[in-house]
Amino acid sequence: MKLHIPFDNSYARLPSVFYSKQTPEPVKSPNLIGFNQNLAQLLGISPGEINEMAQVFAGNQVPDGGEPLAQLYAGHQFGSYNPQLGDGRAVLLGETVGTDGQRRDIQLKGSGRTPYSRRGDGRAWLGPVLREYVVSEAMHALGIPTTRALAAVETGETVQRERGLPGAVLTRVASSHLRVGSFEVFARRGDIRSLKQLTDYAIQRHYPQAEGPMGLLRAVRDAQSKLIAAWMGVGFIHGVMNTDNSSISGETIDYGPCAFMDSYHPQRVFSSIDHQGRYSYDNQPGIAVWNLAQLATALIQQFDDPQQGVEEATEIVHAMPGMMQDLWEQTFRAKLGLASAQDSDLQLTSELLDLMAQGGCDFTNTFRALATGDARDQFSDPTGFDNWQESWKARMESEPDPQALMLRSNPAFIPRNHQIENMIAAGVAGDYTLFHTLNQVLAQPFEDQPEHTDLRQPPTPDQVVPATFC
Ligand code: AMP
Ligand code: MG
Ligand code: MG
Repeated sequence: MKLHIPFDNSYARLPSVFYSKQTPEPVKSPNLIGFNQNLAQLLGISPGEINEMAQVFAGNQVPDGGEPLAQLYAGHQFGSYNPQLGDGRAVLLGETVGTDGQRRDIQLKGSGRTPYSRRGDGRAWLGPVLREYVVSEAMHALGIPTTRALAAVETGETVQRERGLPGAVLTRVASSHLRVGSFEVFARRGDIRSLKQLTDYAIQRHYPQAEGPMGLLRAVRDAQSKLIAAWMGVGFIHGVMNTDNSSISGETIDYGPCAFMDSYHPQRVFSSIDHQGRYSYDNQPGIAVWNLAQLATALIQQFDDPQQGVEEATEIVHAMPGMMQDLWEQTFRAKLGLASAQDSDLQLTSELLDLMAQGGCDFTNTFRALATGDARDQFSDPTGFDNWQESWKARMESEPDPQALMLRSNPAFIPRNHQIENMIAAGVAGDYTLFHTLNQVLAQPFEDQPEHTDLRQPPTPDQVVPATFC
């Protein structure tokens, strides 16, 4: 085989209680539709021939050094505890240490049934695979921590959903796939030995400076706070912030019914299964705190004295809302071109967001237009904006270079839902042109790219995607 992946599999060296060894289930006729050269290079992978790569990234052939396994985890889904989830349609092939010295997981998603599949078929259809590929790579280009996409393969098989759909496999790369739910499962089972072992493993792998379980908790809090503030800044709605989708490394993980907002509304929800709006745009910071509290609850089980740690854990969790508020304010100050901080900035930000919500303004285009000087055009009734703009301009007088700051804080391009849907429809019909165009354009989201202005347009009323599905 020409394809070479320099595996070094630390997770597979942990005791078998953490996973089940699982070979991916072969598929009929794999066809490679996407391969991320730059990421492969970073991971130290030498690419092979197209057909070889299709076989490997479909799971038909495990490359030398791969030790495929399905990871065990549990999690709170929409607030209720589910004692056993785990990789139900994914296998970890192994890990590599990249040219940057960073260890990363290489995982196949949609690679067949595992002991954790429950009633699922272990498969993925093409739509979510293309969506995750494009949106996760766009997130990376926006400078936001995320899992990444190494490859996408059509399986040549049909997956049964509401109707028969083309099957696909995504190769996902992550700093690790450890989640809050990875800890919950052992804490709830009372398997303290494994809980301690996983804590040590996570510290060593992600936060070598952290001291003990509470050091880990603090580090996860900091990483998650930064992540959620960054999501808020680009209008991203994750859609399923369950604790099994909340990563210990602080990366965005699990692109299911996620979406970037077009028209701004603080309570925006896309996910077709989020009936109560638990995971709405504005609820995300609060949910991140709730998830951290679940991690705290799990981690403190490893103290000999159950009361020990409770106080410290409480203090760590309680500091999170304030921390996130500060990061949120910092994020939006930059979007307004403000490098320095003043007390009145919060009000200035809130006033603009209120006006945008009232006007149903496009989130991305309105902020970008602040940088280019034509934001007024985003409001059908600009009276409120005109007033606001006077205070903003006065505030900007003390700023050295607000425009440059805005141009690098307010992207021109985000993966817009209706374009993602167009891409999926075309892909199902066998045309991957838009898939490749989106990858290329979204790799430079802060560049104007005038030849792709069409991809900056918000959806017309008939193009609006009202709900997303996993
Ligand atoms: P998610 O909502 O994507 O985080 O998935 C929740 C759980 O359901 C995870 O344990 C998944 O592995 C599992 N799951 C999702 N889809 C499937 C499927 N088609 N087959 C088997 N397991 C699945
Ligand atoms: Mg998940
Ligand atoms: Mg999912």
